[in-house]
Amino acid sequence: MPESADSTRNKKLKQRLEFYEDLGLAPFYRDRTPSSSQSMQSRLSTTMPATSSQTIEEPRLPRLAPQPRPAPSTATPSRSIAPPQSSRPSLFDAANKHSGETLLQIRDDLGECTRCKLHSTRHTIVFGDGNPKAQLIFVGEGPGADEDAQGLPFVGRAGKLLTQMIEAMGLQRRDVYICNVVKCRPPGNRQPEPDEVAACSPFLFRQLDSIKPKVIVCLGATAFQTLPQTNRSISHYRGQWLDYRCYKRLPTYHPAYLLRNPAAKADVWKDLQKVMAELGLEVKKKVK
Ligand code: SF4
Repeated sequence: MPESADSTRNKKLKQRLEFYEDLGLAPFYRDRTPSSSQSMQSRLSTTMPATSSQTIEEPRLPRLAPQPRPAPSTATPSRSIAPPQSSRPSLFDAANKHSGETLLQIRDDLGECTRCKLHSTRHTIVFGDGNPKAQLIFVGEGPGADEDAQGLPFVGRAGKLLTQMIEAMGLQRRDVYICNVVKCRPPGNRQPEPDEVAACSPFLFRQLDSIKPKVIVCLGATAFQTLPQTNRSISHYRGQWLDYRCYKRLPTYHPAYLLRNPAAKADVWKDLQKVMAELGLEVKKKVK
């Protein structure tokens, strides 16, 4: 026997309400029972697992329009169920809080790291420096002697050149974020070895995911070959836009290479102009 129009409408209405409830847009009834409210909380907790350092907060429930209260009955006493109230943040506030870990949390997790052999010769861990909400990240290879001494990335001769390049883009170092693939200085400034890159690069990935930049500039072969892992030569891809997960990345020469090959500065400047265009920056002057 075909369903009546009322039955079909009620069924659709029920499905729609369940859909809204799944989104957290509930309750719709002032006399919602504790058990149904509890079931929604348990559903939220199963779909949004909490981490050890973060607390999942229930989204704020939408306010209902005031409705006339029925006159109190004197005939049959009944248990009064107060409408659920919530002073908790909205769904979007909660989402912001759980968008990812902070750089501080990542640094804390790194600790006094001994995950690879570079720890035995380093003086200081060079985690990274700059704006934690930067649109632009420069990723180099690893700290040198100056960086190892000061605990900051790109502060030696190559770092000064990088600073000039950043300023030529119309930015300051504090506008961008600068870090390296490995956080400890390889002895004698040698290239980091594969096991060292494998041990340290997860922290770089987490830094990127924390900052969520628009553009990643890979300075030199090690950064290019780590994001993502590849054996391809940087010389074939220098200056080309490539994707790295949800980020745009552009490989270019390392400033240390430019110190040895000043003629390559023109190529790097062309690459940086592409970055400026991507970020909507106005080209003001050239690197000297
Ligand atoms: S290079 Fe990275 S993984 Fe290796 S000891 Fe230093 S911080 Fe740890």
